[in-house]
Amino acid sequence: MNASPAQRIEELSRRLTGGVTLVAVSKFHPVEAILSAYSAGQRVFGESRAQELAAKAPALPPDIQWHFIGHLQTNKVKTVVPIAHTIQSIDSLRLLRAVDAEAARTARTVNVLLQVHVAAEETKFGFTPDELLAIAPEAAAMTGARVTGIMGMASNTDNTARIEADFDAIRACFDALSSGAFASRPEFSVISMGMSGDWHIAVAHGSNMVRIGSDIFGERQYF
Ligand SMILES: *Cc1c(COP(=O)(O)O)cnc(C)c1O
Repeated sequence: MNASPAQRIEELSRRLTGGVTLVAVSKFHPVEAILSAYSAGQRVFGESRAQELAAKAPALPPDIQWHFIGHLQTNKVKTVVPIAHTIQSIDSLRLLRAVDAEAARTARTVNVLLQVHVAAEETKFGFTPDELLAIAPEAAAMTGARVTGIMGMASNTDNTARIEADFDAIRACFDALSSGAFASRPEFSVISMGMSGDWHIAVAHGSNMVRIGSDIFGERQYF
């Protein structure tokens, strides 16, 4: 029952087919749990709060790739840009511009994913597919923020057909961008979709990056 994060990583790595990147979502879990997953070879971790990321990253091995996956306020961009390999949760043009400007100012490049909102839940975070198409030319021209793909979530429901339709909509959005504004951008290649409860559906519907927390680390400890 109580498998360690290392055992969970080994099991997931066997189940995930080639070409699908596993982001181990370690938010609200201590450094020790991350080190357990690291000992099983996991190098890509996801965090959702700037302060938590800034506290953990220096205490952990430097070859970890940190993915920021939570809502990012523009006043925390300076904290996250120097640490993150990828910011997956670009949910507004204002945030995208702030990340691009901060990366350029510090002579860095940070990978970003554009967050698309297709799920049933009301949220103010994320672009609709139409909004994404509209901002894509500006996003594709950026050099500080390097747009490597899109991220999305399915509706929080037991209705498998709805979940499948949401993942198909995210995938369609990716396809439209990659044959449109990002057609000459080979780095635009990531479709980040799928979490603990629905990653197998996401992979069947074209995901090549899954973000899994509770299936690896158990219940989050809200400290
Ligand atoms: C927390 C979180 C996850 C992981 O969720 P689990 O259900 O624990 O696997 C994935 N993606 C995002 C954006 C999250 O905030």
